[in-house]
Amino acid sequence: STQVKRLPPWLKTSVPLGTNFNKIKRDLRGLKLHTVCEEARCPNIGDCWGGSDKAAATATIMLMGDTCTRGCRFCSVKTSKAPAPLDPHEPEHTAEAIRRWGLGYVVLTSVDRDDLADGGSAHFAETIMKIKQRAPHILVEALTGDFAGDLTQTARVAQSGLDVYAHNIETVEELTPFVRDRRATFRQSLRALEHAKKTVPTLITKTSMMLGVGENDEQVLAALKELRKVNVDVVTFGQYMRPTKKHMKVHEYVTPEKFTHWQKVAEELGFLYVASGPLVRSSYKAGEKFIENVLK
Ligand code: SF4
Ligand code: SF4
Repeated sequence: STQVKRLPPWLKTSVPLGTNFNKIKRDLRGLKLHTVCEEARCPNIGDCWGGSDKAAATATIMLMGDTCTRGCRFCSVKTSKAPAPLDPHEPEHTAEAIRRWGLGYVVLTSVDRDDLADGGSAHFAETIMKIKQRAPHILVEALTGDFAGDLTQTARVAQSGLDVYAHNIETVEELTPFVRDRRATFRQSLRALEHAKKTVPTLITKTSMMLGVGENDEQVLAALKELRKVNVDVVTFGQYMRPTKKHMKVHEYVTPEKFTHWQKVAEELGFLYVASGPLVRSSYKAGEKFIENVLK
């Protein structure tokens, strides 16, 4: 049917805001950082920013502008063949802002920049190196693109001193051509994750899938097995939510019980940790999870 399905109760949220949240929000104003948390009005902001443990506070920062060279069918980011040039001061400014902010865990992500010869890998790596120089205790996750299959660029980011290398496969292999930009393939994404781990075996590798786009159980299971084969350590599952009517439809609202099922299946397959729930995003409480599962 073409009717908009009503949201099930588990997707209606109120945002619980801790004291940390308000402080972070005040600090942010002067820092000129673009957080995905705020811009995407992420429902988890209270949990990620406002947890009681400051060392685990997590935020996601967007690098390399607001315009992507790709156009995935689920994504609300603007698209252009020729986005604005990179800001050469961004790595330094971002690092300084993060140091002052005093977060425990930062996720750096970016639009895909197929217009740049290196896909932006040098810019990404420079940002990570500068953060680690200024604030070595801050845990850094890079959520990167596939660099159009150029593994040299993947290696450059993997060797920059980060803690977690993340790249999202987004969906099962069969649906990839209908969900992601045509330049992205499931196999290319697996190769990027595999190469990051091979380049720096101590890195934690991580990926994320949206459920509710039309996948079946067999396909999800097959995807999880492929990820384990290339030693991906962490997987997260969340519900696909349609950003606007121009984007692909939600096929179904997956129940919380089903998310729990995938959590268990993934744990049994040997993932180091798993986050799975209707509102989970790949960076959901990433700091807390890393501290619990990797550092302890
Ligand atoms: Fe920010 Fe990600 Fe947490 Fe949402 S889930 S608040 S985007 S860190
Ligand atoms: Fe959005 Fe990333 Fe796809 Fe670009 S590559 S359209 S930012 S999901």
